Amino acid sequence: TDIEDRTQALARLQQMQSDFARMNRVGIMGELAASLSHEITQPIASARNNARAALNFMDKQPPDLSEVREALGGVVGDTDRAGDIIGRIRDQVRKAPPRKDYVDLNTAISEVIALARSSIVSSGVQVRTRFADGLPPVHADRVQIQQVMLNLILNAAEAMGSMKEGARELSISTEQDRTGALVTVRDSGPGIQPAQLERVFDAFYTTKSLGTGMGLSICRSIVAAHGGRLWAEENEPHGAVFKFTVPGHEAGS
Ligand code: ADP
Repeated sequence: TDIEDRTQALARLQQMQSDFARMNRVGIMGELAASLSHEITQPIASARNNARAALNFMDKQPPDLSEVREALGGVVGDTDRAGDIIGRIRDQVRKAPPRKDYVDLNTAISEVIALARSSIVSSGVQVRTRFADGLPPVHADRVQIQQVMLNLILNAAEAMGSMKEGARELSISTEQDRTGALVTVRDSGPGIQPAQLERVFDAFYTTKSLGTGMGLSICRSIVAAHGGRLWAEENEPHGAVFKFTVPGHEAGS
């Protein structure tokens, strides 16, 4: 019947949306993780060889301290090199120039919510939105801002999905602030310890067994490239709040 057809079509659409949401998120992060792991494998292997050599020279009777010193110098050099590689890749992300346009944030965010709908629903999460009326357009790369939103929404849904009890509420709002727009993504999940509120933005910081720890780090780079700021706060009585600003088109470049 017509209703069955429509139900099936809707189910397919939802599946597509969920796949797309996952692909999109794994996309940039997967690429970054792949190029990072490829490039830093070499200095890490070399550090290991040098450390092993140092151990062997220590085990000699008597220990050969000048060789130990040389091998440890090698370890320092290798780890510096690994650090440089990470820094370089992060800079590339930061420098990728956003393709800026006039973007209606409320519409852009609604699209992301629609896209993430099935992940949201399957985590048992209720979404509430409060969009500012007449929010002036921001000068931004729509797709990049949508990636930030998608990541924040999926993180929130994942965090709440892991809870055994309690309401799972995701509230998303936009408002005008002094220099442009302020977006708030608030969840009622387990939240983030005060000491970790900054650390969650570190590259590779993750508490998930399959996490890359790159999501928030990339989100912060994207927002910074737009001249805005992204930060985390605690929600009351529990949960996490992520906020970011995007300068309006007069304030932005
Ligand atoms: P990943 O999702 O791969 O772990 P992210 O950089 O997106 O990488 O997140 C880093 C960490 O920050 C997560 O592993 C989690 O511990 C924490 N986090 C992010 N969002 C939330 C949230 N909404 N609630 C609680 N913890 C969060």
